[in-house]
Amino acid sequence: MQPKKNIVHLPVYKPGKPMEEVKRELGLTEVIKLASNENPFGCSPKAKEAIIANIDQVSIYPDGGAVDLTAAVAKKFQVETNQVIFGAGSDEIILMLARAFLVPGDETIMAFPTFPQYKHNAEIEGAVCIEVPLKEGSHDLPAMLAQINDRTKIVWLCNPNNPTGTMNDHQEVVNFLNAVPAHVLVVLDEAYAEYNVSGEYPDSIALIKQFKNTIMLRTFSKIYGLASLRIGYGIGHPEVVRSVNQVREPFNTTGFAQKAALAAIHDEQFIEDCRNANAQGIVYLSEKFTELKLPFYPAHGNFMMVDVQRSGALVFDALLRKGLIIRHDPSWQLPTMIRVTVGSQEQNEKFINALQEALHEVAVGV
Ligand SMILES: *Cc1c(COP(=O)(O)O)cnc(C)c1O
Repeated sequence: MQPKKNIVHLPVYKPGKPMEEVKRELGLTEVIKLASNENPFGCSPKAKEAIIANIDQVSIYPDGGAVDLTAAVAKKFQVETNQVIFGAGSDEIILMLARAFLVPGDETIMAFPTFPQYKHNAEIEGAVCIEVPLKEGSHDLPAMLAQINDRTKIVWLCNPNNPTGTMNDHQEVVNFLNAVPAHVLVVLDEAYAEYNVSGEYPDSIALIKQFKNTIMLRTFSKIYGLASLRIGYGIGHPEVVRSVNQVREPFNTTGFAQKAALAAIHDEQFIEDCRNANAQGIVYLSEKFTELKLPFYPAHGNFMMVDVQRSGALVFDALLRKGLIIRHDPSWQLPTMIRVTVGSQEQNEKFINALQEALHEVAVGV
């Protein structure tokens, strides 16, 4: 047997320890997970009702074209239905884009550090990844532009960027798109867009209408609180969407996910409440980080990256022992940084208390 040689080096995804196991091992009664940018308030009750109401449909294949949900999303964003595509999370749309557009030897450009799935899927297709370091935590768009050549197929913009939480504003993205040649597809990954309260966030629907070589990705996993159901979507020019549809598996999203997403999209109050609570959480955490003299990046999603000025790996361990799971990833090459999801106010306070203790336990420096 001989797997593709470009996958042999890829690590197998290591899932985090289940919460129950963490509790048992460390003798904890409560564990708070602020590691995966999930919604601390769950999902809209209407989404749960929709799942229960459709429970008898479990033996029936889902609607492969997600017709009702497509219509609802198209209406919400004032686009045509042939501009919308769904995936098993926006992760699957990233996979399908790589599958549809990249062949061995193609080049693809992304920031560093950013969401790992762009590089992961590009490497599976044998593409060459050009990683452009962030500038002050944000995408360095002029530097990314300078890397484009005849072999470039896709540029990935993660906005807000995961893991830093930073944003590139509308004008920066417009300037970038104006300079990108038409043969290059620009992916605008906006997994946290609904959390944004800045007036400067890109109006990507307007950009998609102006620039045919763009696709915007959104997800129901984050503010909509449906991560377990695996559903996300892309909106772009019909030609781009058609290419993705050509590689899509016929039943790639479940019936429950479609029904729940349809209910969730209509519960605008839930989204507004979550956005407001999150904005307050960012204010609270920013104040506390400032008091603790810890530098942090301006946050535009539902998570914050903070410089703990000592080993992030050791701070992670210290927090875990206190029942708090946050994120520190050596692949970021940011040894003193941790990423924390904005929780409920109660969770945020518990996190800050535990962090204060952890800062005393771990010596400054790495
Ligand atoms: C969470 C996330 C996604 C996708 O999540 P899905 O659950 O697959 O929809 C995509 N991009 C970024 C930057 C994310 O943080």
